[in-house]
Amino acid sequence: MVDLVRALEELSNAFGVAGHEDQVRDILRRYIEPYVDEIRVDKLGNLICTKRREGKVKIMLAAHMDEVGLIVKAIEKEGVIRFAPIGGLDPRVLVSQRVIIHTREGKRIPGVISSIPPHIQEPQEREKAFKLEHLFIDIGATSDKEVEELGIRIGDPISFDVKFTRLHGKYVSGKAFDDRIGCAELIAIAEHLDEVDAEIYLVGTVQEEVGLRGAATAAYGIYPDYAIALDVTVGGGIPGVKITQVTARPGQGPVVTVADGGLLAHPKVLRALIEAARRLGIKYQLETFLPYGGTTDAARITLTREGVPSGVITVATRYIHAPVSVANLEDMENAVRLAIETCKELSRG
Ligand SMILES: [Zn+2]
Repeated sequence: MVDLVRALEELSNAFGVAGHEDQVRDILRRYIEPYVDEIRVDKLGNLICTKRREGKVKIMLAAHMDEVGLIVKAIEKEGVIRFAPIGGLDPRVLVSQRVIIHTREGKRIPGVISSIPPHIQEPQEREKAFKLEHLFIDIGATSDKEVEELGIRIGDPISFDVKFTRLHGKYVSGKAFDDRIGCAELIAIAEHLDEVDAEIYLVGTVQEEVGLRGAATAAYGIYPDYAIALDVTVGGGIPGVKITQVTARPGQGPVVTVADGGLLAHPKVLRALIEAARRLGIKYQLETFLPYGGTTDAARITLTREGVPSGVITVATRYIHAPVSVANLEDMENAVRLAIETCKELSRG
């Protein structure tokens, strides 16, 4: 039995800003390989792991391997680095963060995102949040030449320097839980494929955070009968998050999405998800993530060719799209059980 916490730790600590998913792909491949008949990487970089069952229902389970991060935009004469976001990031959470710049030669250069000390801020400045254009990365260099000599170039990806940590009880914190939680679930699901009478495709997708791009090509190639995205959703249950905004709470079970900014869960898949949760007797939460725009790979997969009935299982995760998030391990374990049981449900036709 795979140690799900160790797998999540390894995946969370790995670097995988969108467009650079290699490390995550290697980890997934290593864990999943013993349990499937075939593993391939498509032209865009999606990892497609297949458990063959000729003539049976084809089900695709997708988790995205990429994470939000930054990219080098410009190098200033003073030796500091300007950056742009990759994926949806709030500039206010970036101030004072430790980061790692990944060069083309594979060097990892540590740095710190700037801030302005309170001593030298004007009273009116203190009321305002920094904007992206005010921020830069300090790597300890004093000139642009020095930065370039280290091998840093425009377009290099930048990740947050955050290590996985266990919190109180069943809670954990770390980088890129969106969507390394889904990736860890794929690993745990792989061990149970023998129990399901369906052809299963476990897929690690690329470039979800910049527009669900990998899911488009992976689903086109597979053209499954059903698809389920394994992802995270905004976790509530903390001060400042209202029930009119978010209903999903960490610790209350996996979340079944009914509707989000890009998908109305297909009635057949939704029924299977709810029936599976009932059979297992586990706590689960239904979610309507509207009127917001957030969505998952399922939104793109469902539009493949003549259409793929799709649904979503998420884990309510706090502070997503920030350098460090918080989630509940039990929710993740039950998301795995729910995914397997739903595949059984769908395989019955
Ligand atoms: Zn995600």
